[in-house]
Amino acid sequence: MKFEELDLIDPVLNALRDKQYTHPTPIQAKAIPIVLDRKDVLGCAQTGTGKTAAFAIPIIQLIHRIEGQKSGFPKMRALIVTPTRELAIQIDENIRDYSKYTKIKHAVIFGGVKQHKQVEQLRRGVHILVATPGRLLDLISQGYISLNDIKMFVLDEADRMLDMGFINDIKKLLKLLPAQRQSLFFSATMPDNIVQLSRQILDHPIKVEVAAVSSAAETIQQYLYYTNRTDKKSLLIHILKNPILDQVLVFSRTKHGADRIVRNLKKKNIQAAAIHGDKAQNQRQKALKSFKEGKIRVLVATDIAARGIDIDKLKYVINYDIPNVAETYVHRIGRSGRAGEEGIAIAICEPEENAHIRAIEKLIKQKIKVVNDNPFPQTEKPMTAAEKKEWNKEKQRRKQEFFANRKKARARR
Ligand code: AMP
Repeated sequence: MKFEELDLIDPVLNALRDKQYTHPTPIQAKAIPIVLDRKDVLGCAQTGTGKTAAFAIPIIQLIHRIEGQKSGFPKMRALIVTPTRELAIQIDENIRDYSKYTKIKHAVIFGGVKQHKQVEQLRRGVHILVATPGRLLDLISQGYISLNDIKMFVLDEADRMLDMGFINDIKKLLKLLPAQRQSLFFSATMPDNIVQLSRQILDHPIKVEVAAVSSAAETIQQYLYYTNRTDKKSLLIHILKNPILDQVLVFSRTKHGADRIVRNLKKKNIQAAAIHGDKAQNQRQKALKSFKEGKIRVLVATDIAARGIDIDKLKYVINYDIPNVAETYVHRIGRSGRAGEEGIAIAICEPEENAHIRAIEKLIKQKIKVVNDNPFPQTEKPMTAAEKKEWNKEKQRRKQEFFANRKKARARR
């Protein structure tokens, strides 16, 4: 199927041509006609499937039809709520690209930066607003945004939204939205709490599903290195010696871990930067921009920060640790091989994580190929329950010591 067969208007088709999109992805082919038909959608799709365009394109078309020809102050007709700033910015950039041949006005708002510029944009009027929940409610309470004219509401990445603790914000928001509206609800996973939330939002939705989360994108080749905890650093450097890995996203479970990996890579003259929740918004944007432009080779990210990253044709993903939630692994590797491109995912597993690998393999119903050409093979055994208890105690002790020392140092200052 081609985009031309989807009943799209010329301004949208021309914009898609500029992006060199010829064929809709499966979620686009399914969702676009339903949204154009003004029905509610329950979309189950993982990242990289093209779901942003699946909702953005028909929204642009519908708004263009109603509002595009009118002059005067634009009314806010569509609200798209998404959990992270990066994702919000990317959705807005997509809307900018797809609506470039229309007169649609759009804006993006998110927290962590001063509100002044965002308020200025809102004052000039927008048809489509992309927002993260906190800043949205904040600006509503200050009277800069009214949702009274909203006809279309999109809740994006609903599962991540709940993971990040936004449930109360979403409930507040639902009370402010007009009852008469079209709603689109997207989530990569559909556990019970998500299904319940979707019931509060949607009216007779049509379910649109592409590849369940357990089916790791088929285009992604997955490799696994078993190693020891203390060898991970050296193994990562060894893997990166291969110049073919020119643009690599490395996942770290913790923020400190991400910073540590970057420091180690820099010591070996490998250009790297970290993005995570402790970094200021402009630092994150700068790191992402340098990565996209190829100025840094390795971007190290935590799961939440990485969720919004969209890099065209990102080929390599390295799991520096193995997530204990198997679905997180699937999300991570989904950052490579986007929209039908080929991707390669490499996992580095220490003894304590062997069990996580087994859970992942069960979820994705396939064995990950083990790399035997490995100068740092796993020689240690996972800790026994007693050793683990001891180790946790020791960790706790070190933590207390660290904080006590810090307190003393501060008191001396
Ligand atoms: P998303 O899942 O919305 O984050 O999109 C994943 C990536 O696929 C983005 O880089 C999009 O620009 C790209 N993309 C979306 N739709 C298409 C399409 N029909 N053809 C080619 N690339 C696309």
